[in-house]
Amino acid sequence: MQECDPFFFQGCDPATDSFMFFSFQDTPANNDRDNQDTYDCQVIVSWPYRAEFLGRSEPTETPATSEERLRLMKEITRDWASPFRDVVQDMPSTSTVQAIRLEDWPPEEGSWENFDGRATLVGDAAHAMTMYRGEAANHGITDVARWLDFHLPVLKSKERSGGDLKGACDAYEREMIARTHLAVLASRQACLDAHDHERVNERSPLVSKRAPIATA
Ligand SMILES: Cc1cc2nc3c(=O)[nH]c(=O)nc-3n(C[C@H](O)[C@H](O)[C@H](O)COP(=O)(O)OP(=O)(O)OC[C@H]3O[C@@H](n4cnc5c(N)ncnc54)[C@H](O)[C@@H]3O)c2cc1C
Repeated sequence: MQECDPFFFQGCDPATDSFMFFSFQDTPANNDRDNQDTYDCQVIVSWPYRAEFLGRSEPTETPATSEERLRLMKEITRDWASPFRDVVQDMPSTSTVQAIRLEDWPPEEGSWENFDGRATLVGDAAHAMTMYRGEAANHGITDVARWLDFHLPVLKSKERSGGDLKGACDAYEREMIARTHLAVLASRQACLDAHDHERVNERSPLVSKRAPIATA
């Protein structure tokens, strides 16, 4: 897998419209496990929620147990090419397979109360998005940077009034909501495209360039 990429990669299966994401979480050089000569890897397999997938009449639900989930992952990847197939097929039966619920929430102005600027939302709490563009945490970090940009001048000012705090918070929310509303929808489209191979082209948000975010 390291020959494919030292960090991570993703790919779609044109035959089934299923999708793989592989990443190294750590390596022998930086893990603190007892058996240090090991790698920690994340292997994600996702599939389109529709009838006829794997020849089944009903859409395929996520199984309830880890064992059943591993069995499904192996069924989905059975006809993939090496090494993508092998990395799933060789997973030991003791592997823990967790389900990720794909949900998103495009934020809108007025969706929450900021109590005159004394409380607001940042990160996933403000703008949960699917992970198919890998940008949610980046936006969470940007939220904090922008919150500071708007609030530090007010907090450092000796002559501030209550209205200044509310103004800074409203300005933060306007910037954050405009930026992340689009990001949530782009990530949603990337998720849909990831499971529809025909749609994966240079215009798809799955592979298109991530927009650089201007800082104040
Ligand atoms: C598979 C996957 C891959 C991803 N890849 C990327 C990527 O490549 N790039 C990227 O930018 N983003 C990625 N993300 C998204 C990223 O992980 C999230 O955007 C980020 O972790 C959100 O951080 P957060 O602090 O806002 O929320 P969280 O990380 O969810 O933190 C919230 C914390 O609050 C705690 N909590 C909840 N309720 C309470 C309560 N009532 N009291 C006290 N504590 C509470 C939770 O336990 C949690 O620790 C990925 C996500 C997934 C699932």
